[in-house]
Amino acid sequence: NIPVITIDGPTASGKGTIAALVARALGDWHVLDSGALYRLTALACRRAGVSGDDPEQAARLARELDVCFGDGVWLDGEEVSEAIRQEAVGNLASRVAAYPAVREALLARQQAFRRVPGLVADGRDMGTVVFPDAQLKVFLVASAQARAERRYKQLLEKGISANIRDLLEDLQARDARDTGRQAAPLKPAHGARILDSSELSIEETVQQILTWYGN
Ligand code: C5P
Repeated sequence: NIPVITIDGPTASGKGTIAALVARALGDWHVLDSGALYRLTALACRRAGVSGDDPEQAARLARELDVCFGDGVWLDGEEVSEAIRQEAVGNLASRVAAYPAVREALLARQQAFRRVPGLVADGRDMGTVVFPDAQLKVFLVASAQARAERRYKQLLEKGISANIRDLLEDLQARDARDTGRQAAPLKPAHGARILDSSELSIEETVQQILTWYGN
């Protein structure tokens, strides 16, 4: 039984960064950024002219995604690491993610990331739906204010100007959509440990997860 650690939580809670560091600390475990698959589905919809209101076509594109993960992400042979990070793509991703058919279409693809020596999977439903038998389930939270501030700093470092109030509103809207939807709503999995990182550094957050895992 190949070990899996799931890290679920709201937008901008730092899941991606934490998942990558935990995976490295455990000796180069694999990482699944499940949000990227929803973002890729959203990007594929945009490119194919499929609207966010068409679950069947969105699910077909999700099933047929030709993706490659490495140092970056490729869709149909083209590097799209930057493209899938755009706000508009993230917003469309959270709309198509509400369709059960889209989630179903991505399920086996996500489970295929479980390979030796182990997997750290981050997203919204890793512990509840995709890997319910995970050895450790973490629900990573941080206050909306802390998340907005972190995102603000990230954008600033990239030379992108932003406004904390807008970022905060955007986060809250996405939180509401992710927790309020019918299909795999965001919530702590059965047996999940809640980790509030509002007052923790990245290193402290990673260390807490390693300690829980028994490392
Ligand atoms: O985590 P990230 O912001 O990249 O995810 C983009 C969107 O995909 C989220 O807003 C969420 O609605 C959706 N998502 C999901 N289930 C996951 C991962 C992401 O519904 N496991």
